[in-house]
Amino acid sequence: MLEQNELIRYNRQLIIPNFGEEGQRKLKDSHIIIVGIGGLGCASATYLTAAGVGHITIVDFDTVELSDLNRQILYWEDEIGDRKVVVAQRKLSKLNPSVEITPIFAKITNENVLGIIDRSQVVVDGLDNSATRLVVNSACIKQNIPYIYGGVSRLRGMITTIIPGQTPCLACLLPESVEGLGGLGVLGVTPALIANLQALEVIKLLIGHSPSLAGKLLIFNGDDIKFRVYEIRRNENCPVCSQALHL
Ligand SMILES: [Zn+2]
Repeated sequence: MLEQNELIRYNRQLIIPNFGEEGQRKLKDSHIIIVGIGGLGCASATYLTAAGVGHITIVDFDTVELSDLNRQILYWEDEIGDRKVVVAQRKLSKLNPSVEITPIFAKITNENVLGIIDRSQVVVDGLDNSATRLVVNSACIKQNIPYIYGGVSRLRGMITTIIPGQTPCLACLLPESVEGLGGLGVLGVTPALIANLQALEVIKLLIGHSPSLAGKLLIFNGDDIKFRVYEIRRNENCPVCSQALHL
């Protein structure tokens, strides 16, 4: 049951056809995890908290720097030097106190990743390097947890929804780790846009609707403001998801 204040808080989404109180209750009962709370993670965490996802775990090992403030909208100038997960938890909890926010101050590694993503229904990508993304991807395939990949560089971004056992995984697309693209620069609007598409895919998955980008790669180019969507195929020799299929 939703309480009276929830009926008011979420009124504008409750009245959307095929969402309703049932959808809201599903969001309330959900637990997701956002790995990396930088440009992408700040935006997806803000909108998923506002939407009423019941439990959100946020993971990051960084502290706030002045050069983050052009795009990492949960952090303000007087918080430079503070741990991002601590600041983010405080702001998100003020936005929506009924959402449980669990901060984990940690760098994701092969050793700790399974413990970190355990018991979450969806993993949301907020990372800035492909090496860690591939670690998360493998863990999600092993644990059978959907993983919403998002990546940005300059005015470009991309996103795909990885459903273990159904779609290609990130290792099918990025067979080897490549250097982080953060050095190429990024405008704040690009991660905000990609993160909100990720958040929309998360909400669809949580309320039982079909995700729109499963098996598809959406590429956004801000130079001409075009969205292109490509079908993607599983690499039959993928060391991560083809093995999982044979288990
Ligand atoms: Zn694969």
